[in-house]
Amino acid sequence: MMSVPPARTLSDAFDVLLFDLDGVIYIGADPVPYAVDSLNAARAAGNRLGFLTNNASRRTQTVADHLTRLGIRGVTAADVVSSPEAAVPLLAQRIPAGAEVLVVGGDGLRWEVENAGFRITTVATPDTAGVIQGFTPELTWNDLAEASYAIEAGAVWVGTNGDWTIPREKGVAPGNGTLLAAVHTATGKFPEVAGKPERPIYDVARRRFAATRPLAIGDRLDTDILGAHRGEMDSLLVLTGVDTPLTVLRADPDQRPTYIARDLRALNEYYEPAVLNGNTAECGTVSARLDRAILTITHGDVRSVEALRAACALVWTSNVPPTAIQVPAGLGEGE
Ligand SMILES: [Mg+2]
Repeated sequence: MMSVPPARTLSDAFDVLLFDLDGVIYIGADPVPYAVDSLNAARAAGNRLGFLTNNASRRTQTVADHLTRLGIRGVTAADVVSSPEAAVPLLAQRIPAGAEVLVVGGDGLRWEVENAGFRITTVATPDTAGVIQGFTPELTWNDLAEASYAIEAGAVWVGTNGDWTIPREKGVAPGNGTLLAAVHTATGKFPEVAGKPERPIYDVARRRFAATRPLAIGDRLDTDILGAHRGEMDSLLVLTGVDTPLTVLRADPDQRPTYIARDLRALNEYYEPAVLNGNTAECGTVSARLDRAILTITHGDVRSVEALRAACALVWTSNVPPTAIQVPAGLGEGE
C-alpha cells in the first residue's frame, strides 16, 4: 500500500505517531540511536506521540516513567496504550459490570481489570464470568489450570496479546501466545486477542488520540506492520530491530510497510518515495531494475535505504514470487 508521498516530512504528513517500543525506541536498557532526539523533534513540530505496547505486566505509568528516563519529553501514562487497556474493554462488552474476572497475569493487568470495576479472582468459581490472560514471569501451571476450569465452565476468554516469543537477556523465551495455546489445547476454545497485530489496540489508540492521520511505527513486520494494516493505518518500518532489508523485500502483502527507513531520523527529514516505471524504479539518486527474477541496482548505492525502497517497489508489483528473486548482495544494509 504505497500511498501518496508526504508533502514534506513524515512528521508533517501525519498528526499522531504511534510507536512500538522494543527495537524502535530502546533495545534492552539502551536507547536506539537517534530515537530520543527524533521523538522530541517530532513533538516540538506539533505531533502527538503515542506508545503501543503488548507488554501486559507493566503499568502504563511505569512505561511512561521509563520513556521519560530515556529523555523523551512530556510523556504521561495516557500516552501509553497497553494490551491490557485494549483487552479489558473486550471483556466489558461481553460480561456484566462488576462481574468476577479470573486474572492470569501481572500487576499491570490486575490494575486495569480492577480499574474497570470488575471483581478479581485468582481461582475459578461458579461466579467467574471472564478470564483475562497476559504474560508475567511469575505465572504457574496452577494459573493456567484455573483459567482452563473457568473457560470450560463457560467464562468469556480474552488474551492481552498472542506473541509467541519474549526476548530475554539469555535468549528467546515463550511468550503469552504459547500460554494461550496451552489453555487452548486443554479446552479446545480460542481467546479473543487485543494486542498487536490484532485490531483492538489500534482502535483504542485512534480513539484516545483523536487521530485523523495516524502513522504506526515499528520494527516487526508480523506485529507492527500487520497490525497497522488491520487497523487501517499507514506504517513506517525502521531497520533498528528485528526485521531486515531482505525480510521486508520478501514480506507478504499484508506485512508490507507504507514507508521504510533506516532509523527514526526519517520522521523529520524529507521522505524520498520510490517511483515505479515499468520494470525500473527510481528513489533519489538510486535506479533499480527487475528483469524476470533478477534484481539489479543500475545506479547509486546498493546499500542505501533508497535502493531498498526502489527494490520493494519493483518486487511488490512483480508476478514473480519474492523468494524466487535474485537480490544483489548488501541491498539496503547500510554502511
Ligand atoms: Mg518491536
